[in-house]
Amino acid sequence: MLTATKSRVAPGRLLINNEWIDAEKHFGTVNPATGEVLTQIAEASKQDVNRAVEAARRALEDRGGAWRKMSASERGRLIWKLADLVEKNIDELAELETLDNGKPIFESRYVDLPMVADVLRYYAGLATKIHGDTVNTNETAFTYTLREPVGVVGMIVPWNFPLLLASWKLGPALACGNTVVLKPAEQTPLTTLRFGELAIEAGFPAGVLNVVTGGAETGRTIVQHPGIDKIAFTGSTSVGKEIMRSAADTLKRVTLELGGKSPNIVCADSDLDGAVKGAINGIFYGKGEVCNAGSRLFIEGKVRDEFTEKLVARVKKMQPADPLDPKTRMGAIVSQEQMQTVLGYIESGKKEGAKLIAGGNRVSLEGSKGFFIEPTIFGDVKNDMQIAREEIFGPVLSMIAFDDVDEAVQQANSNPYGLAAAVWTRDIKKAHHISRQLRAGTVWINTYGLMDAALPFGGYKQSGFGRELGAHAVEHYTELKTVWLNMA
Ligand code: NAD
Repeated sequence: MLTATKSRVAPGRLLINNEWIDAEKHFGTVNPATGEVLTQIAEASKQDVNRAVEAARRALEDRGGAWRKMSASERGRLIWKLADLVEKNIDELAELETLDNGKPIFESRYVDLPMVADVLRYYAGLATKIHGDTVNTNETAFTYTLREPVGVVGMIVPWNFPLLLASWKLGPALACGNTVVLKPAEQTPLTTLRFGELAIEAGFPAGVLNVVTGGAETGRTIVQHPGIDKIAFTGSTSVGKEIMRSAADTLKRVTLELGGKSPNIVCADSDLDGAVKGAINGIFYGKGEVCNAGSRLFIEGKVRDEFTEKLVARVKKMQPADPLDPKTRMGAIVSQEQMQTVLGYIESGKKEGAKLIAGGNRVSLEGSKGFFIEPTIFGDVKNDMQIAREEIFGPVLSMIAFDDVDEAVQQANSNPYGLAAAVWTRDIKKAHHISRQLRAGTVWINTYGLMDAALPFGGYKQSGFGRELGAHAVEHYTELKTVWLNMA
């Protein structure tokens, strides 16, 4: 039996100016493990977005700019309190994330949500370290720079790490003194709504954090809104391009965290058992619905058979199961639509002549209508096949054999994306050499997918621009002002 829904999920409303308001239209959010609607969610109209933007603007400017004037230390304390509340409610938040997204509760409870608290605490601490410089220009001037908040930030996030990716934006935006209109993905709004309640409980002033749920149309309204100063977007490259074009009309600041087709290069001189574990983690963690998934595995020819044998043996033990079961490591694909997309890519791989060596099928769990797919591995893949070129965003690994490592690096780079990459070797010089050649925002050596709140994350090429996490994020949430005091 699939585990019964433990929490009662209340219908969603919009959070505007610290009040919960209903909308005219609603949509259902679905549990991908059962195919059943969990609850109804409000769909924000243009007027609703207007109200959210007005509330965010007032929070910046009313009462002489109370939020802006709040000391950095006080802002930091509020963000820290929010992190405490996330931890206090971690079981509930993890369960909501799993119900809405289909990811294993193990991942929600022990990876995603702890990192949300960690990211918030990193930026709570950083709030008091945001500063400009004094610049020594000439004797008759006192010149310095100030970092000021950009203003109202519109945040649009995808469904794969719903609350975690929101926290990557909220942490620096709030630490820098901005106000926020946040739109979670229509497939996974539940944790963001609960987070909104926690923000009120933490004591954030009205209008600082507004949550507007809805789909692409609500997103477009946010992007086009003249009252929004910056868009922080995580999602697909195609939507990222549309946002960039549309934001040009109001010349909004834009940061884009987009898709990937990340290469994972395994050399013959690596610890093969470690590389097998890393490869599995790299592609099957989060059901492969991970922007930095190691979806192209380059394996050196002389160890290909040994590596493949070890890989397949491990994958056979990793079958889709009830996401709410703590032992599950492969959950449900987020939606029926995404499942069909992934199955379409599996068909394309077969048609193009790749060799299916594991998985490849939809799985029905005890007759449920859930969206489960077996972890799937293709061998004999060529770098120009569709399954090697395009982001699948599902549990499908494409293995490409190589004999010359420079050629592997060249193939790894010959893709429009550049989000992440990895290399496995015991030769430290080779590791450094390869990591410098790879055109990617993150390169892992002898590991895959590790992240830290202090380390910047973002893309090269069509994986976007701007960096999230770490101190660099502050640059994207502040304007730099130069002040010149005439001393002559
Ligand atoms: P998506 O681009 O379809 O949607 C992302 C968000 O944008 C959703 O909230 C959606 O409602 C909204 N949206 C859709 N169309 C819009 C439009 N025209 N204008 C404004 N908003 C719009 O992406 P998705 O399917 O939800 O997520 C998967 C994609 O996200 C993958 O490509 C993945 O690689 C990428 N992603 C990137 C990162 C990263 O850090 N680089 C992290 C996670 C996911």
